[in-house]
Amino acid sequence: MIRSIVTDIEGTTTPISFVHRVLFPYARERLPGFLEANEAHPALANVPEPKLGTLLQWMDHDEKITALKAIQGEIWKEGFTSKHLVGEVYADVPLALSAWFAAGLRLFIFSSGSVEAQKLLFGHTPAGDLTPKYEGFFDTNIGSKKESASYGNIIHALGNQPDEILFLSDIEAELDAAAAAGLAVCQLVRPEDKTIPSPRHPVARDFHNVSSLFGLPCE
Ligand SMILES: [Mg+2]
Repeated sequence: MIRSIVTDIEGTTTPISFVHRVLFPYARERLPGFLEANEAHPALANVPEPKLGTLLQWMDHDEKITALKAIQGEIWKEGFTSKHLVGEVYADVPLALSAWFAAGLRLFIFSSGSVEAQKLLFGHTPAGDLTPKYEGFFDTNIGSKKESASYGNIIHALGNQPDEILFLSDIEAELDAAAAAGLAVCQLVRPEDKTIPSPRHPVARDFHNVSSLFGLPCE
């Protein structure tokens, strides 16, 4: 019997294109204004001159540099809280989360985006603030999504039996790792994300389909 559901974000609750189509261009567009307003920002101390040019170059190459991540994170936070940015979720997601939550299922997120970024996205969706539906948020501080030990850590944190936890993701290697730890798994194959169906795991086109496959409430 499923008692907890752990979901991935990109390709599962949210279009994969959201980051590149919405978040990255927003940070790029707001960067000059951010630098003007925050000349003495501590994150800028480690950015070589010319700061704007350097940061734009790092953005172009999607560099994993702490200063860049910190500045992008602040621009996005301002964007979400001022409602210039909206966290995209597929239309079936808020409905299913409500039905699952109402039925007493425990809901969690496991994503490679930071917990703070997860809360910003789910806190500002077209369906409103979805974070109260969630009991907990996990990022890679608990481990890599492609290593089964990470799912062992999640089992420990939730206090459920492994097979009482359902993990939803679009990435086969993540599902393999979760299944190796004993979790129930289901792959989301969203037509918009052009996901390739796994031959090894149950496959669902949306969260309603997940409910049907696992006998969960969907209204
Ligand atoms: Mg994903």
